[in-house]
Amino acid sequence: MPEETIFSKIICKEIPADIVYQDELVTAFRDINPQAPTHVLIIPNRVIPTVDDLEEADEPTIGRMVRVAMTIARDEGIADDGYRLIVNCREHGGQEVYHLHLHLMGGRPLGPMLLRKDGL
Ligand code: 5GP
Repeated sequence: MPEETIFSKIICKEIPADIVYQDELVTAFRDINPQAPTHVLIIPNRVIPTVDDLEEADEPTIGRMVRVAMTIARDEGIADDGYRLIVNCREHGGQEVYHLHLHLMGGRPLGPMLLRKDGL
């Protein structure tokens, strides 16, 4: 069994979070340290540490995560202007919490995708 993180406690409401959506597969809540006017994390209810740990059986869950992100973007009024979905994976991807999460960010122009460094 993969190790639980603080996100498991959010799912079962053991610690508070601003949950905007929850069903049998996924939970969505506002990021505690938002980087954009809308910054919501969509996570599977089952502990999947990274996107690299997805199994074939998780396909409905990952599909639900993206569909929920799309619906929340529409509800937040940011869909027409556009938004960004990000999944960070492990150290080089900048992942801090090892419970898979999809960042939904929008509400302002988000700029270039990555900070450029010389020689990439
Ligand atoms: P990562 O860097 O792993 O892709 O993103 C982790 C995100 O989780 C960060 O944006 C961070 O602000 C958010 N986060 C970490 N701990 C908590 C928490 O306890 N509650 C909420 N709502 N967000 C958290």
